[in-house]
Amino acid sequence: MKIPKSVSRYCKHCKKHTEHKISIVKGKERGSLKKFSIARARKRGRGQGYGNKGKWGSKPAISQFKMTGAKTSKKTNLKFTCEVCKKSSIQSHGIRTKKVVLE
Ligand SMILES: [Zn+2]
Repeated sequence: MKIPKSVSRYCKHCKKHTEHKISIVKGKERGSLKKFSIARARKRGRGQGYGNKGKWGSKPAISQFKMTGAKTSKKTNLKFTCEVCKKSSIQSHGIRTKKVVLE
């Protein structure tokens, strides 16, 4: 699916239509010094064994209770940044698509 790089959209901070830059939101990796790091979980006695709630391990937590691999497409996750005030907002509903191309 082709998506334009910028679009005119309502900005709730400027309270009018302004030009917005579109970017794709990507998930961040689990940091080694952050709150949900594996090192921190191990230190607190939660990293392994009975009772880690499926949060820490080699496989992501979502794969242990959700059926994965059934769908071939993913929902879009777009971020709109206002060119005037530089504040950004995230889309409310994603559209299911195989590939997102910004042009
Ligand atoms: Zn704005």
